[in-house]
Amino acid sequence: MPTMIPGAARVSKVLSVVLGTDSIRFAPDRCDRFRLFQPPQSHQTGPDLPMLLAWLRRRRRRKIAARPFPEDWEEILRHNVRQYSSLDETEQQTLRTAVAIFVAEKSWEGCNGLDINDEIRVTIAGHACRLVLGFQGYVFDRLQTILVYPDTYVVREKDYSLGFEIEQDSLRLGEAWHQGPVILVWPSVMADAHDARREQNVVLHEFAHVLDMHDHHADGTPTLDSPEQYQTWDEVMRHEFAQLVDDIQSGRPTLLDQYGATNLTEFFAVCSECFFECPRQMREHHGRLYDVLRRFYHQDPAGS
Ligand SMILES: [Zn+2]
Repeated sequence: MPTMIPGAARVSKVLSVVLGTDSIRFAPDRCDRFRLFQPPQSHQTGPDLPMLLAWLRRRRRRKIAARPFPEDWEEILRHNVRQYSSLDETEQQTLRTAVAIFVAEKSWEGCNGLDINDEIRVTIAGHACRLVLGFQGYVFDRLQTILVYPDTYVVREKDYSLGFEIEQDSLRLGEAWHQGPVILVWPSVMADAHDARREQNVVLHEFAHVLDMHDHHADGTPTLDSPEQYQTWDEVMRHEFAQLVDDIQSGRPTLLDQYGATNLTEFFAVCSECFFECPRQMREHHGRLYDVLRRFYHQDPAGS
């Protein structure tokens, strides 16, 4: 489990109020945030500007992809992204290219005195880009900034759950902001990367939130390919979410982390962690859930 955070249950209660969702708290030792804002008003920039920017991005990415991938970066992937060695050569090449683009395009900022180095950049990029290996060139294109803390961090926030405003400190392990930064705690990233016994991965979790918010809604339903896929997704996710809540309330063990019972938004992020960290167990015990995620991610990590 991630770093224990006393008081996280209080934090999660704030989350449910902020989001206006029917939150159920079962796992007070996990704590993260996703922030959703209305998309900014677009400014009239001329009809050709988006095409020009896209062309410039493609050209820049071709140059990045043409560079040799540093040997020490590949060593970092092998050491800190354990699934890297399980990928075939084509998938490894796709991941290396995505990592190189991700590292080059994002702005990396160390917080509270943390010095950002290649291990931090490549490890986070390696896990994040696992999510989008099947998305043909998409590398979290709208995301600009990654903030990394050396330890659990504290944010001052307002709590309205009692009907009036209370200001208090909120302890965080990670956040994903709509069209804003992703914030991570480096020791949590490494703990998840090196503990094969657990199904959690904070990088996968926060970047799944980014995918969810791509359509400007943090509702646990990312952008899908067809009305039929939306219908199936809604049916399966709601059924599995209800099953998780029931299992927890009945004291039955669950493969999915109990934090997923918070709401459908967290459920999608938790399911994404499990899909990549424990794919065979998920396929065995949650076959329909595995299948909708396989269709969305265009990946089959459990293999044949
Ligand atoms: Zn979350």
